[in-house]
Amino acid sequence: MPLRQLVVTRATLKVLLIEDRPEDRAEIRRLLLADSDRRYEFVEAETGAEGLRAAAAPAEFDCVVLDYDLPDMDCVAVLSALRGGGKLTAMPVVVLNSTNAREMVGGVLRAGAMDYLGKGSMNPETLVRAIENAIERHALQRSLLQSVARQGLLLEVASALMADGRDKAAIAHLVFDKVRAYFDADVCLNFHVDGQGGSPRLVDGIGGSQAFRYEAQALPTDVPFCGALAGLACIAQPLRAHNARVIGRFVLASTRREAFFTEDTEFLETLCHYIAFSWERLDAGAERREEEMLAREQAHRLRLTMEATATGLWDWDLSSDAVHWSAECYAIHGVREDEFDGTAKGFERLVHPEDRERVWRTVNGAIERRDTYECAFRILRPDGAQRWVTNRGRALYDAAGRPLRMIGTLVDITERRQTELDLLQANALLSAVGEHTSDLIFTKDLAGRMTYANPATLRALGRPAAAVIGKTSRDWCEDKAEAAAITANDRRVMAAGGTETIEEMFTSAGGTRTFLSVKSPLRDAQGNVVGLCGISRDITERRRMEEELRMQKRRKNEFIVTLGHELRSPLATIVLAMHMLRNRGLEADADLSQVFGIVDRQVHQMDRLTGDLLDASRVANGKLELRRETLVLDEVLAQAIETAQPHIDLARQRVEVSLPHPQVRLSADPVRLVQVFANLLNNATKYGKRGGTVTVRAQRGDDAVLVQVQDDGIGIPAGQLARVFDLFSQVEYGEDRSRGGLGIGLSLTRGLVELHGGTIEAESDGPGCGSRFTVRLPCLAPCADGAGHRPPGLNAALLLDSTRSAGAKEA
Ligand code: ADP
Repeated sequence: MPLRQLVVTRATLKVLLIEDRPEDRAEIRRLLLADSDRRYEFVEAETGAEGLRAAAAPAEFDCVVLDYDLPDMDCVAVLSALRGGGKLTAMPVVVLNSTNAREMVGGVLRAGAMDYLGKGSMNPETLVRAIENAIERHALQRSLLQSVARQGLLLEVASALMADGRDKAAIAHLVFDKVRAYFDADVCLNFHVDGQGGSPRLVDGIGGSQAFRYEAQALPTDVPFCGALAGLACIAQPLRAHNARVIGRFVLASTRREAFFTEDTEFLETLCHYIAFSWERLDAGAERREEEMLAREQAHRLRLTMEATATGLWDWDLSSDAVHWSAECYAIHGVREDEFDGTAKGFERLVHPEDRERVWRTVNGAIERRDTYECAFRILRPDGAQRWVTNRGRALYDAAGRPLRMIGTLVDITERRQTELDLLQANALLSAVGEHTSDLIFTKDLAGRMTYANPATLRALGRPAAAVIGKTSRDWCEDKAEAAAITANDRRVMAAGGTETIEEMFTSAGGTRTFLSVKSPLRDAQGNVVGLCGISRDITERRRMEEELRMQKRRKNEFIVTLGHELRSPLATIVLAMHMLRNRGLEADADLSQVFGIVDRQVHQMDRLTGDLLDASRVANGKLELRRETLVLDEVLAQAIETAQPHIDLARQRVEVSLPHPQVRLSADPVRLVQVFANLLNNATKYGKRGGTVTVRAQRGDDAVLVQVQDDGIGIPAGQLARVFDLFSQVEYGEDRSRGGLGIGLSLTRGLVELHGGTIEAESDGPGCGSRFTVRLPCLAPCADGAGHRPPGLNAALLLDSTRSAGAKEA
């Protein structure tokens, strides 16, 4: 089944309709076009498979409207195909169902739909709102997924930086490797600023021209930078030591990106904290590591044994103070057998001086209590290395209860401890994100009581933690209706078990604000829902700006319509007055007759402009309706040429027409289509060469006809081609600035072509090289019986010129 493309417009909302019932599709289109300032482009599919094919095409859709009951596929299967294994569908989806069954709701939302609507409750407002909601939720969820990915990336960088054995250049390379895809950056410079406040010195750099490096070096040291540097998009951030002193600067730039944004700079700032932290660690550890390296070589043999070590065993005879170690104990302590004297004192000497007292306290306490002890402490190896060990032991007693011996185990836990520390740091990082983000992050238990609220949440609620934690929305929300809505949303998310994006209102002392919340159930290890977690973003300002834009657009359109109407009445009066003057026989006077001629032409011109103004506003508001009938293209073009004839005559131009045969038939509005080509011809004469040639060439494709209107005039500069179809846009030609007009004609022409399901393009080889406008219109199949063939004389190229048609008129 073919997809039918109804309207193609760039500045419109592109909607994919997957719906098998033609009447439902027509209704959806009607509802969206009614009462809306927005323009829509619809692509329709009758089956799920057809819809998925359309969705896979390179053209991106702003939204998919999906019928719940499709003939070939389950709605959830369509959603899952649109997710393609990811968490989010490739584009926002609104599901429509005819039964209004509540049970489908949870299922489709879980499957990835952003909103749903019962066909019974569909009206312009609900449908537009559902689509807007879906688009907004989709965007927010995408941004949340990105932010989760960003946090993951931060963790990855943090843990890579914690590993030892790097220099400053290696640290910069490491960070750059990890984040280059995120920033789409290909230039990375890393400067060092020494304590004497000298100018920054380049530690290491990847990419960037000499000029770029020079400018990057000259940036002020202690403030972030975001902007263009030597023609590249660039961000730079100071590296600060813990005492806030600037110790360097990290610079990223991209030859591919247009610009960097606030969130990039925030992210870079966090990265720079890590880099600065690792630099400091590096400086502090540099000396120590040098000694360690020497020692490491000396102890190489010993190390080989140690690598195989697991748990050491020891036995201490209390009466003789003889200590016996297994081989593992020697390896852990890093000593040879002849280096340990086998006494408790000898052992004590190997323990870190700061831990000795604690170790003995623990051991003696355990002997007294007749208990097992466990104690983690540091040991110092003869090679100077420090290790963490854990020592477990218990005493054995004689019949009288006197301690005889102690036995125990010794394990090296240095690596384990490091992992624990890394984990702690990772956790600290996650909570730092929660603390500093401007999004509201919170968790609630099954009863809807807040169990965690980040500072942004407390700020938004305008209450201290004590008034929020452990409390339900009824406690912290004064507006009862808002509290009830929040509670109902929470319950629904926990009952349905899937993530939902919901718009919520909240009124506090600061006024009513709108939030877009993503809520997901929290589960225990067994998968039972035990509460929910939510992230809310304040979208009040965005909403206000959208509303403001809508109002501005409405006011502008109203103004244009009023202007058109207001100009019409004085025009009618002028026409009437002229008529009366003519009736008095004043035309006999040659001067007056010339004046009449001038006024006639000007009035006609004004009438055309006001008509275009009104039409353009109707097209922009989707209020212009086509009266389609079956037409023959030749006739449309002949009428358009006739309309433009006075201008063609004035410019002494020649019109060459070439038409295909059999004749092309179209289903179109005759008046509007003549308007389209008359506009293009008028422009071709207006901007064409005086005495030159205007060519009209039609060519038939499979299911469309291409009509080109070409002139040999002033042409259009390449940079302005894309704009000529915008309302009120006019090309600037330096000296020869304007040839009259308002810049409405081409906008209206494009609107009319698109209403017919067609497209229009402008081409020009540049100033002085003429322009070519190509209109592509869907056409009907040629008549099978050969009807529609032109008489033989007209089948070939048809040539009209101003002389001939002027002569024809006089005849
Ligand atoms: P206008 O009333 O100004 O002619 P249009 O919307 O018809 O308004 O055209 C917009 C602008 O596009 C014109 O002002 C002109 O600069 C440029 N333009 C349109 N047609 C041509 C053409 N055939 N050759 C060169 N420039 C053209």
